[in-house]
Amino acid sequence: MTVQIRPAPTASPYAGRLYERLESQVRSYSRAMPRQFARAEGVWMYDSLGGRYLDFLSGCSSLNYGHNHPALKAALMDYIANDGIAHSLDLHTEAKAAFLRTFDEVILRPRGLVYRAMFTGPTGTNAVEAALKLARKVTGRTQVVAFTNGFHGMTLGALSCTGNAAKRDGAGVPLTYVTHEPYDGYFGPDVDTTALLERRLRDHSAGLDAPAAILVEAVQGEGGLQAASPAWLLRIAEVAREHGALLILDDIQAGCGRTGPFFSFEGMGFVPDIVTMAKSLSGMGSPFALTLLRPELDVWSPGEHNGTFRGNNHAFVTATAALRLFWSDGRFEADVRRRGGLLGRRLDAIARSLGLSVRGRGMMRGLVTGSGEIAAAITRLAFAKGLIIETSGSDDEVVKVLAPLVIDDDVLAMGLDILEDCARQVLSAPLRVAAE
Ligand SMILES: *Cc1c(COP(=O)(O)O)cnc(C)c1O
Repeated sequence: MTVQIRPAPTASPYAGRLYERLESQVRSYSRAMPRQFARAEGVWMYDSLGGRYLDFLSGCSSLNYGHNHPALKAALMDYIANDGIAHSLDLHTEAKAAFLRTFDEVILRPRGLVYRAMFTGPTGTNAVEAALKLARKVTGRTQVVAFTNGFHGMTLGALSCTGNAAKRDGAGVPLTYVTHEPYDGYFGPDVDTTALLERRLRDHSAGLDAPAAILVEAVQGEGGLQAASPAWLLRIAEVAREHGALLILDDIQAGCGRTGPFFSFEGMGFVPDIVTMAKSLSGMGSPFALTLLRPELDVWSPGEHNGTFRGNNHAFVTATAALRLFWSDGRFEADVRRRGGLLGRRLDAIARSLGLSVRGRGMMRGLVTGSGEIAAAITRLAFAKGLIIETSGSDDEVVKVLAPLVIDDDVLAMGLDILEDCARQVLSAPLRVAAE
């Protein structure tokens, strides 16, 4: 392997001061990675000074097929060159028709799934808001059950379902009508938390109102990469049905192949009532969100839920190309499953040698480091060596590997070598690194 990672030698000559003066201090990722990025190709990002970085963040799983995949780029450039419709509210367009037909043919039918597509505003949180609103409208109930460490977005409805206190504190108003129940493993491996929920729902004096929906991630992306067991998820689906609640599966981060199959819940023996998707759905990083609903639940009146940017035509074009290229047969999925196994074995070995542990599933796994300081020191050091990698978890204590799914095995191994080096270095001198 001859590829070289060459991070820019220094942060100083780039226009960092410009951002301090003109961009709100709400900015976050750019603080840990103070560079200005210029272009990106595949798994690589390049900064304005010519530094080259291996991307193990992938836009938080928005770039599962890598940056600027040539086939997706070509489809979009053709579409624009031919004056394809860019914006159309929710009018019918050829690009939308092609997406709907392809999604049905390539994704839904082969899996025996029947859903209607609701195009919401362009980000994940919009898809979650639509799902919550629909569940409340269908059931006539207000309460929603979400889970500890769940992350569902930043608008008020989705934020109410998000666990993280720092995010919730930004709301400025009470976050209501949601109870957070313990996710799988919250009390350790020996406590079946579905039984706690079931018991409380069955007991009319438990103080838990009958929920409109149970909202769950199969693998908690931002919450720390807890992966619920298939049996736990199946039981949650059954509990939802038994208690007249809709099961909303938030597949915004774990979907589009991140855990192996297209949907993170495949092969687990249940079908969610509603599925939310965004992040990698467009395939090229354009904003594009989708709420899938069982046809019987489609009780909306026309325009009752609305938005100027529903169904981004450029995203339809790249999403359609991505579905055709990666999902028309089982090869990509098999490759991702295999590579996810490689990642898991390598992380397990790193964790064992350093006394850490590993969480996650498929190509969505991370090292549990014990503290936010340690994890931050590891990712800081990794960035200095040209590896873009971030943390997640309640204390940001998990270093999460979200490499593009299309990464070559040897490049993946090279990134993991860097991660291992950095983890070893930090753990052998945590105080010194933390104090730097
Ligand atoms: C990122 C994310 C969201 C929110 O999506 P945005 O595009 O940031 O609004 C919701 N749910 C999950 C599971 C996510 O990972």
